[in-house]
Amino acid sequence: MKNLKNALLLKQLYLLKQLGYKYTDLTPFKEDEPDLSLPNTLDKLKKQAMECHLCQLSKSRTHVVFGEGNTEAKLMFVGEAPGAMEDSSGKPFIGRSGELLTKMIENVLQISRSEVYITNIVKCRPRGNAEPTPAEAHTCQPYLMKQIALVKPNIIVALGATAYHYLSDDDSNISKVRGTVIQKKGYTLVPTYHPSYLLRNPSAKKEVFEDLKMIRELL
Ligand code: URA
Repeated sequence: MKNLKNALLLKQLYLLKQLGYKYTDLTPFKEDEPDLSLPNTLDKLKKQAMECHLCQLSKSRTHVVFGEGNTEAKLMFVGEAPGAMEDSSGKPFIGRSGELLTKMIENVLQISRSEVYITNIVKCRPRGNAEPTPAEAHTCQPYLMKQIALVKPNIIVALGATAYHYLSDDDSNISKVRGTVIQKKGYTLVPTYHPSYLLRNPSAKKEVFEDLKMIRELL
């Protein structure tokens, strides 16, 4: 939560500066300040994310891609960041990698896409589809943490290295950890390859198929 707090503090200081203040000894946000708690419903959380300007990504986005799906899903998928199509529509995973993700869910897990919840580490598209910077990912992290706390999935599938890294705080190579089951507080984390990696490396689909079969058993 620290980055979000710092960003909110900075925003407030800019506002005071615009109003003409040159110095303030106000310490607006303390660790236990209730104002900083994020809303306790997904609708309100989404509304807050829609108006978020806490990092650079907000400047170039068309839409905030908050996430979508069953708000009581047992299974959540977390990708890296919205791409161009997601940015223009506001929906996660609707481009080519989204089509593949939908096939993975519907053909292999044999559940409808609308039954799961899908979101990303960052909610706004990085220019040129760059990997989100650590500052961007950490600033956006409280939204994801709150989504997880509200949806309460049993299993979270980390799609690719970036999602795995920020969900586990582990830098291990995705090829080493994919298909493993990691017990986190309140849910099971299963890392696998990102669908866009599979589009570039179709031979890795075999491994993802194995990962999905294991997820189906866990479910
Ligand atoms: N890639 C992602 O990681 N997320 C999306 O929403 C689309 C593509």
